[in-house]
Amino acid sequence: MNFFKWLIKKEKWSDRSKAARFYATEECDGCKLCYDECPTGHIKWINERPEWEKPCLMCAACSTICPSGAIKYGIVPEKE
Ligand code: SF4
Ligand code: SF4
Repeated sequence: MNFFKWLIKKEKWSDRSKAARFYATEECDGCKLCYDECPTGHIKWINERPEWEKPCLMCAACSTICPSGAIKYGIVPEKE
């Protein structure tokens, strides 16, 4: 089993509400640095906000560059 198949199975991406993933908190000001920094294009830009829709390389470049500390990893809280 290759890495991505393993990750998809592990993270249950067929049910996104239960899948651990990157997400932006309300501290996000829409600067778009994370979107521009991602080397693989995994970040989508939807309604002026970043969205992580698929498993990625987990390089952390997006969360490292975020000036607001708005990028978290885990189960997305319902209010987010
Ligand atoms: S962790 Fe890396 S590959 Fe994944 S979304 Fe962030 S910048 Fe892109
Ligand atoms: S880098 Fe941080 S503040 Fe800027 S768009 Fe991404 S999550 Fe929002």
